[in-house]
Amino acid sequence: MKKETICVQAGWQPKKGEPRVLPIYQSTTFKYETSDQMGELFDLKESGYFYTRLQNPTNDYVAAKICELEGGAAAMLTSSGQAANYYAVFNICEAGSHVVLSSTVYGGTFNLLTVTMKKMGIECTVVNPDAPTEELDAAFQENTRCVLAETLANPALVVLDIEKFAELAHRHGVPLIVDNTFATPINCNPFQWGADIVTHSTTKYMDGHAMTVGGAIVDSGNFDWTKYPDKYAGLCKPDESYHGVVYTEKFQKAAYITKATVQLMRDLGSIQSPQNAFLLNVGLETLPLRMERHCANAQKAAEYLETHSKVAWVNYPGLQGNKYHALAEKYMPNGSCGVISFGLKGGRKAAGEMMDKFKLAAIVTHVADARTCVLHPASHTHRQMTDEQLLAAGVAPDLIRFSVGLEHIEDIIADLDQALSCI
Ligand SMILES: *Cc1c(COP(=O)(O)O)cnc(C)c1O
Repeated sequence: MKKETICVQAGWQPKKGEPRVLPIYQSTTFKYETSDQMGELFDLKESGYFYTRLQNPTNDYVAAKICELEGGAAAMLTSSGQAANYYAVFNICEAGSHVVLSSTVYGGTFNLLTVTMKKMGIECTVVNPDAPTEELDAAFQENTRCVLAETLANPALVVLDIEKFAELAHRHGVPLIVDNTFATPINCNPFQWGADIVTHSTTKYMDGHAMTVGGAIVDSGNFDWTKYPDKYAGLCKPDESYHGVVYTEKFQKAAYITKATVQLMRDLGSIQSPQNAFLLNVGLETLPLRMERHCANAQKAAEYLETHSKVAWVNYPGLQGNKYHALAEKYMPNGSCGVISFGLKGGRKAAGEMMDKFKLAAIVTHVADARTCVLHPASHTHRQMTDEQLLAAGVAPDLIRFSVGLEHIEDIIADLDQALSCI
């Protein structure tokens, strides 16, 4: 089936007399008839629901839809995008492990890896994704367990050369994990280019209406953990907390997601609420339509800004002159995303002033939903930093992040136009 059809039809498949729309299984627990039936679940001998902290049917139907959209083997939902990236890495790392991390990843992911997971004894080496191969090769160590990068970096809009990164990771015997949040499975399927695991903050375009925080992890099932049984002992050796089950033997291509569910969800509990999964599913139904419009609007807004006399620079991969235009054409031929960034000739001060002039675009920290929104990191999220510190963090002092929504493009451009005329 094509993606438009998957978005509407995949996941929940009602049988005779069942609700047409995915039901919200608003229940913490599930009933069994014999003691043995329940016992088998705890030995992982039978699959079935017993407690929503581990699994819930509403969540699983939505995860199944996302899995199909990415062309994966197994998937799970998490309570946030942060939890998705944390679980994706922690499922194959422990104290003493090492991760190769792209320098352009979302700030939350950067902090997760370089501050919080560091305290757990997991080290990481940060690499510039555009660095030459020898430099990237040098980042790997004997204890490296995975590479983590973003298809389309938030907010720098750096496009990852996924094929090159997959080849690099595999040459060093580790999987490539790609956060595909900004591109969405509509515009890019990283598995087609060799990525092994995909993560999402479903909070962004997948929900698309800024209603719910959520995340997802999808496994392609392609990485052969059994080639490195000592490195991935958690997947390839008996798990004593489940009477010695070996995930790769018992669950094959679902080994990684099963382990993340029955160990990490069981012990850490970052489950998505079924209510939120229901809303996410409604968002997914229109994702292809929305992405098409977000991209078309962003392209026009970027082209408008590029010709404006007060604008110093515009960053959007859809622009001909953009550094990542060729990579975007290769990996996202139908469009990248609705987020653009630009700077003003008047610099940091003018950018700060422009914020108060917008009438349609709202100042919010969120991105990637139906309503056009705007943020000036130097005045907001990064306000304590000097120009020098901002540049070191990869955020230009004059950078305005503009998330183009689904309003009519003429109204969006009119808002940009009137705000620019005021400064
Ligand atoms: C927002 C975001 C996250 C974090 O997701 P939350 O749902 O906010 O926890 C992770 N990665 C990327 C690329 C994001 O844009």
